[in-house]
Amino acid sequence: MSEVEQQQRVNPAFDLLDEDKRRAVLRPRQYTLPYMLRFISSPVLKSRRIVLAGLGYAVSSGLLPVLASFIVYYLTMILQSPAGDLETLLLYAGGYAVLFIILSVLATNLLNRNYNFFMELRIGYMNQALRRYMLMDLGLFENSAFLDEIGKWSWALSSNNAGLEGTWHKLFELGGTAVSVLLLGLLLSWQSPVIMLAGIAFVIVYYFIQANIARYKYERREEQVRLARRLGRLSDLAADFRYGKDMRLFRIYGLFRSAFDSLTVSFEKFLRLFHAREFQLSFAGSLSLLLIDVVSFFILSSNLVAGAITLPQFLMLITAVTLFGQQMLVLAEGFAYVKRDMLYFADTMSFLQADLRTSGGSGQINIGDGIEIEFEQVSFSYPGADQQVLTDLNLKIGKGEKVALVGVNGAGKTTLVKLLTGLYQPTQGRILFNGTDISTVPQQELFPLFSVVFQECEPLALTVAEIVAGTDEGIDRERVVAALKAAGLWDKVSTFPQGIDQPLLKYVTDEGKILSGGENQKLAIARALYRKDSRVMVLDEPTASLDALAETKIYQDLERILAGRTAFFISHRLASTRFCDRIALLDGGRIKEQGTHEELMALGGLYREMFTAQSKYYREREQNSKQRSEQNSERRAERNGKRLAEQLPNGELGR
Ligand code: ADP
Repeated sequence: MSEVEQQQRVNPAFDLLDEDKRRAVLRPRQYTLPYMLRFISSPVLKSRRIVLAGLGYAVSSGLLPVLASFIVYYLTMILQSPAGDLETLLLYAGGYAVLFIILSVLATNLLNRNYNFFMELRIGYMNQALRRYMLMDLGLFENSAFLDEIGKWSWALSSNNAGLEGTWHKLFELGGTAVSVLLLGLLLSWQSPVIMLAGIAFVIVYYFIQANIARYKYERREEQVRLARRLGRLSDLAADFRYGKDMRLFRIYGLFRSAFDSLTVSFEKFLRLFHAREFQLSFAGSLSLLLIDVVSFFILSSNLVAGAITLPQFLMLITAVTLFGQQMLVLAEGFAYVKRDMLYFADTMSFLQADLRTSGGSGQINIGDGIEIEFEQVSFSYPGADQQVLTDLNLKIGKGEKVALVGVNGAGKTTLVKLLTGLYQPTQGRILFNGTDISTVPQQELFPLFSVVFQECEPLALTVAEIVAGTDEGIDRERVVAALKAAGLWDKVSTFPQGIDQPLLKYVTDEGKILSGGENQKLAIARALYRKDSRVMVLDEPTASLDALAETKIYQDLERILAGRTAFFISHRLASTRFCDRIALLDGGRIKEQGTHEELMALGGLYREMFTAQSKYYREREQNSKQRSEQNSERRAERNGKRLAEQLPNGELGR
């Protein structure tokens, strides 16, 4: 296939900067309530056990209020009848109590025993969503509008009693309420259909009122999520061990508190708005419920006075009206709950259905006996940033060649690595691997080519072996040990009680070990070394946190480790680039100077300036430490002499 025909890989980070495109990807369609209900019911209906439990619950809990109405009827009738004796009364009351207990226990059991089923289903969706989060295009994390937009996905999945799982529980419970409402409604219709109709009207009105409140809140959700995300981030940082030292030594907490205060004030304003609206509308709902009660009492009292019903019937129906009102309220609130939480679950569904990964790409790299890399007129600026980090950069690296990339802080070295590894794409120009533009290669084929050690290498809370192998399955344990040895971390890991199976960090388990910054870096190096099939090794300041001895050891080993691989090495310490074939200096977004150390020194440019400054610093440091150690040994000798003189008899020292 010729290069022109090759399809480009698509990184959504740039596209989704545009609000309309973002909405089109994240909100491809409006989900209607019936569609959502079908969607969430389908996994539940597949389980016969749950369907039967739901029906059982509906009948057992639905009968309870109806029984309560009937018992009032029977007890009053017994009390009223001339032959009514205490024994019959106790028999009825006892029978009712037993039935009540059996039905309630059955209903509660059916409800609670199936709790786990719904939780497991929800966690399944949670896993799907987290997977999407982890695989989405890295550049999207730079887009705060996008993050605010997708920040909504998690709400509907984050609790047992709200969102998706809450809706399942609610629908399960509403089965019982619906049975009660139906039976009580039929009982009341016997006297007047008006009561039943008024009840239905109430449910509809109340539902719309609540749905209105829910929509009002939902429409302000984005702002709420934005505030919650910032508040959450601040509290995460405040509790983050890594920032603990800075926080205390630089007294940053004052800054934190003012940021926190202003965010909380905005948040409270929000909540006040919500509550005001809720109060106004729910007041109207309660009023209409009261109206139904008044009308029913009026109808039933008139019937009693007219002799159409007896006193026991009247009391039964009055009880039924009260229970009917209660159950109507539960039903209306239940419907409104489902409607509201489905609005939020629609955000989750949109997120689950949006494809946010880099996708496409039909190019193939012919790996052969190694990889030749060429940056061709490469320019880049970060999504949403005006400034270009790289501008028309050209650089060629031969197969198996080791190139050191140097430059001042912020020159763009790490950015260049992100482009090289395909995490980002150049805004202009191409990066070629053996002649193939890597922006046409699918990421899943590109990533295995690299072994990368990034500057920041905070490990995950997994075991040493899992971190090094990058998986929890099929770990080649011998290779893990070999990689740890080569990276100089084996001496440490071999002292752990669980060896390479020792978990790291204490977030998950108290047994987790904490490594120092330098040891974390060695671990990252071991992880890079474990990938034996990688063809390009990228080391971004791999020894920044290592002590001098560990650094020297790594450099001695690098020659062997890098054999046959094309390597990219970034370091501040210019002297550490010695093992590289060539040095390239990045400045002003371009490669300004390149060649061997000697050639660059002869050129007399920025490299020479940087190297001279560094070596002067090292020389001075060396001289200082030499002087210090000479002074120390003089002092030591003096002290020893004195001590010896004190121990010896007079005059012996002179001999
Ligand atoms: P180096 O590795 O040479 O120190 P970087 O590649 O990290 O430099 O950064 C180069 C420039 O790009 C810096 O000016 C930095 O502020 C900017 N930069 C780095 N990362 C981002 C980002 N995620 N979004 C916007 N600008 C960034």
